[in-house]
Amino acid sequence: MVTRALDVVLLGPPGAGKGTQARRLAEAFVLLHISTGDLLRDEVARGTAPGLEAKAFMNRGELVPDEVVGRMLLRQLHSQQASVGCVYDGYPRTTAQAHLLDGLLAELNRRIDVALFLDVPDEELVTRMAGRRSCPACGSVYHLTAHPPKDGANCDGCGSGLVLRDDDHDGAIRERLRVYKAATAPLLDLYRGRGILREIAGTGTPDQVHGRLRDGMRSVKR
Ligand code: AMP
Repeated sequence: MVTRALDVVLLGPPGAGKGTQARRLAEAFVLLHISTGDLLRDEVARGTAPGLEAKAFMNRGELVPDEVVGRMLLRQLHSQQASVGCVYDGYPRTTAQAHLLDGLLAELNRRIDVALFLDVPDEELVTRMAGRRSCPACGSVYHLTAHPPKDGANCDGCGSGLVLRDDDHDGAIRERLRVYKAATAPLLDLYRGRGILREIAGTGTPDQVHGRLRDGMRSVKR
């Protein structure tokens, strides 16, 4: 069977469940999951130059400069694993980033096939982010009440101690929502205008949301 690369943008406010759902979609459709947030957190944890530059922006809930994130994206996109296509999680976040991604994909004779928007009401986003606990080793995401780890404190998969993300505290959560509305929400119109936006209710269980996302992928032919 001949398959072509598939490029899927997952859009949505912070706390909408993009990380969890992007991972599942990538697995289901055999695509590379590119999370710029995860890549940045890894640079911060390793204390690299881009990590040191990014850290303060991230902890305040602001966007990291385009050049820093753009370099990381480029490296991922040119990796062997990306040749089958990618699920972009947390990228693009600005119109400039959207144009950069279009340009990089065009060089590879590819384009964004579909943009899936996870829609979750504001009140629920705040509750979700404040209760979120993440595994610093494997990136798995839990929630204190909705999806607690089996032993209450450590990752079910790899056993590492779960942590509250540095930007999941009150001040940063509010700033991230503000930045999302100002800089990222306009991308919905961009992709709607191209006829590739699919709006998906991001409420309910992770399985329900995954099912809706798969429905949203139906229009895409591989
Ligand atoms: P996320 O894990 O996607 O919520 O990202 C966490 C933080 O990383 C964001 O609040 C930003 O500070 C930074 N970040 C992630 N992706 C981007 C991006 N595409 N552009 C700028 N900053 C980003």
